Amino acid sequence: MALTIEIDHAKTRARAAAAVGRPVVPQSVKGPIRRIKWGVLLLTLSIYYVTPFIRWHRGPNAPDQAVLLDFANGRLYAFFVEIWPQDLYLLTGLMVLSASILVLANALAGRLWCGFACPQTVWTDLFLLVERLIEGDRRQRLKNIGAPLTPKRTAQIAAKHAAWLLISFATGGTLIFYFTDAPGLLRSFASGDVSFNALTWIVVFAATTYGLAGFARDQVCTFMCPWPRLQGAIWDPEAYTVNYRDYRGEQRMSAKKAAAVRFEGKPAGDCVDCGQCVTVCPIGIDIREGPNFACINCGLCVDACDGVMKKLGRPRGLIDYESWNNIERARRSERPVNRLVRPKTIGLTAACVAMAAAIAIGLETKATATLSVQHDRDPVAVRLSDGSLRNAYTLKLLNKSAGSHIYSLTVSGFDAKLVIVGGRSESSILVGPETSATLRVTLTANADGQGEVVFTAQDETGAALSVMDRFLDR
Ligand code: SF4
Ligand code: SF4
Repeated sequence: MALTIEIDHAKTRARAAAAVGRPVVPQSVKGPIRRIKWGVLLLTLSIYYVTPFIRWHRGPNAPDQAVLLDFANGRLYAFFVEIWPQDLYLLTGLMVLSASILVLANALAGRLWCGFACPQTVWTDLFLLVERLIEGDRRQRLKNIGAPLTPKRTAQIAAKHAAWLLISFATGGTLIFYFTDAPGLLRSFASGDVSFNALTWIVVFAATTYGLAGFARDQVCTFMCPWPRLQGAIWDPEAYTVNYRDYRGEQRMSAKKAAAVRFEGKPAGDCVDCGQCVTVCPIGIDIREGPNFACINCGLCVDACDGVMKKLGRPRGLIDYESWNNIERARRSERPVNRLVRPKTIGLTAACVAMAAAIAIGLETKATATLSVQHDRDPVAVRLSDGSLRNAYTLKLLNKSAGSHIYSLTVSGFDAKLVIVGGRSESSILVGPETSATLRVTLTANADGQGEVVFTAQDETGAALSVMDRFLDR
């Protein structure tokens, strides 16, 4: 069988289905992988719905929500981590780390994230479960397509969409809990006092969930998500992706004929062409055609085929998590080789560990205060009537901690007198929690000349912030 690594057969199937006005209607399946998928669905949905209500004490002047995207004040909170706009490099690092972990996971087991934990997969699975409970399994749902609207059918459609909308609004409502104080907003919901802004976002997020999980489904994984395109660049024949052991399955024939052929002492393929692997596939793929970039590696076809093999008394694993290279080795009657640990996966793991360590160090040593200095540009220097030279600067002290601090400001490196503009007699500055203070300061030198100056702001604990600038004479 030729290697067909492309997404065209999914496209063809999707087009063919669309041509008869029929979406992919996956059948339910039982098996160990399906059970793992239910477990992941339960876990991920629980995390999503519960997280905004977890409290995390950060002190008297900070919000106590464990995960909060406080865009109004430019803060991101995630348990002990607090990100300010100045710390966005850490967020960028986290995104690069997540992408690297996905690439590593892909080198080990293909689109595992897509098949098990991607929100599109999780919510589509949930919507399909609702659809199945109300309308029945695949056979009944296929019969329903184009069938006349009876009272029973109308009630089914209404019930299904009502349940979908309920889930969608719960999803949309929960999402905005991440952007504001969740218990407070929940109380507002209870009292009917919800802002138009909040309602608008709930409707937008609910409509997105309803559309993507209820209707777009496999189309998102195949055509909207960039991953299938990326898969072409990062597809790894040593990764344990879902593959069909064609050397064992072909030639396909009925179970009865296969038994007769084997009785004659001739080889017969294990595949009985029952199509179960295709009917359970949420993407509508026939994995027997070869590796497919649109395959989300969910393993439901593995469960389906294992069920068929069990009934036929044949060994499991005709479709299995197996590397493409092992399929080819087996065709050549060679033993399978486990190459999960290889230079690529070792390198990617090392890169991920190094990035995680760098981010952890960055978080641990993250400054809780910053000092910035801006030299006046026009004029750069002013000659005073007594012949001395004066430069002016704007200093910004940002206190990112939850407590107030008193900073004393000094200047070194150049012989000039520091004065804080605005009548302050001393160089101590009180900066409240999570606020900044902007100061105008001047440096006056009696002699002409220029050189480097170092501004230092030291708080009452002795922690010092220093910024270098220049004193200029023209
Ligand atoms: S489920 Fe197994 S036996 Fe049935 S068509 Fe698919 S590969 Fe063949
Ligand atoms: S071919 Fe199998 S593993 Fe791939 S998406 Fe379909 S059911 Fe899931």
